[in-house]
Amino acid sequence: MILFDFEHESSPSAEAAVARLNEVSEETRFLAGGTDLIPNMRIGITKPERLISLTSIPYAPPTLDAKGWLEIDALTKLSEIEHSKLVGDAAPMLAASAHSVAGNQIRQVATLGGNLCQETRCLYLNQKHDFQFVEPCFKRGGDCCYPFPKNKKNVCWSVYMSDIAPVLMALNAEVSVLGAGGEVRLPIAALFTGDGLRPHTLNPGELIRRIHIPPAPSHFGWGYHKSTVRGGLEFATALMAVALEVKAGGLVCSDARIAIGAVNEGPVRLDKTEAAMRGLELNPANLRMLADQASQEVNPLPHHGFSKPYLRDNIRVHLKRTLSLAVERAGKGLKENRS
Ligand SMILES: Cc1cc2nc3c(=O)[nH]c(=O)nc-3n(C[C@H](O)[C@H](O)[C@H](O)COP(=O)(O)OP(=O)(O)OC[C@H]3O[C@@H](n4cnc5c(N)ncnc54)[C@H](O)[C@@H]3O)c2cc1C
Ligand code: SF4
Repeated sequence: MILFDFEHESSPSAEAAVARLNEVSEETRFLAGGTDLIPNMRIGITKPERLISLTSIPYAPPTLDAKGWLEIDALTKLSEIEHSKLVGDAAPMLAASAHSVAGNQIRQVATLGGNLCQETRCLYLNQKHDFQFVEPCFKRGGDCCYPFPKNKKNVCWSVYMSDIAPVLMALNAEVSVLGAGGEVRLPIAALFTGDGLRPHTLNPGELIRRIHIPPAPSHFGWGYHKSTVRGGLEFATALMAVALEVKAGGLVCSDARIAIGAVNEGPVRLDKTEAAMRGLELNPANLRMLADQASQEVNPLPHHGFSKPYLRDNIRVHLKRTLSLAVERAGKGLKENRS
């Protein structure tokens, strides 16, 4: 599929990139690793007239700030995150999720910011347009939805498949966003609209600068699972990220966050299941009960040939295992969390 003509320029700094994007009049996008944007341009999902490349902007390696928060520049390559000793020690679930993205060649160029800002996916969208359809769907600016023909105009149920976003939600991460008016720091959940047509809250000209992850408390455990058909170089069928804390000397849960990805228009937290966990002893029978409850709380969209009942079942089975792993890690203590 031949790429159309567009202007391309490189920016020396994040500030210059933001200023430039806010100055130009034509439709312009930031270009990081290009592993999501360029394929989407090839198949006509997006048609920017100008790209501002971020690849010449220097970025710092992951660091800990004075309060012990892990700070990662959004331009950091996923391969650097998966292999960083600091990330592996401070936020091993993030390292595991970076490792699960695509394949090594893609992770060598793909960035953290690009991963979070990736487009939603749909079997009927990620196809060369004139090969697959005559009429474009809502997401392409048309007048229909192929998998959900009864959807009202402009309701799009494409799914958001970042492997990393649910992990950052479960870890209570924050994000710094640079715009024309300066930098703001927000909870990671504030990035997502839950709307398949426009999945991100960022305005054109706003750039993710860095991610901040709070230090893990004592008696903390995590679990991450990416369900796939083949097990490699593949987008997820469903994603589960669990972060929990138990009270000292036992398995009574004092805090928990569960985030589910790849089955809705954005990552979702399971508030009711999390509330049920607090104060509960996390023994095998209760974990089974919690996984059952979670699979009913989640409301997956059928996608890529997976039905809603199948996705619920997938989440029930794998979430039970993911919770068990998190409890086991919490019981062993933080030092043994790196695997
Ligand atoms: C074969 C293949 C397999 C893949 N498998 C997976 C997978 O398993 N899991 C997964 O999560 N992804 C997967 N991807 C998608 C993609 O590779 C990753 O999401 C990658 O991390 C995107 O990062 P990038 O730097 O290449 O983003 P780009 O393609 O450069 O950018 C993506 C979007 O983000 C915007 N953007 C980039 N950086 C910023 C920033 N700092 N601030 C604001 N906006 C920004 C761009 O303008 C663009 O709209 C796959 C892609 C391919 C081609
Ligand atoms: S769900 Fe969205 S992307 Fe898929 S066909 Fe419908 S409108 Fe298009």
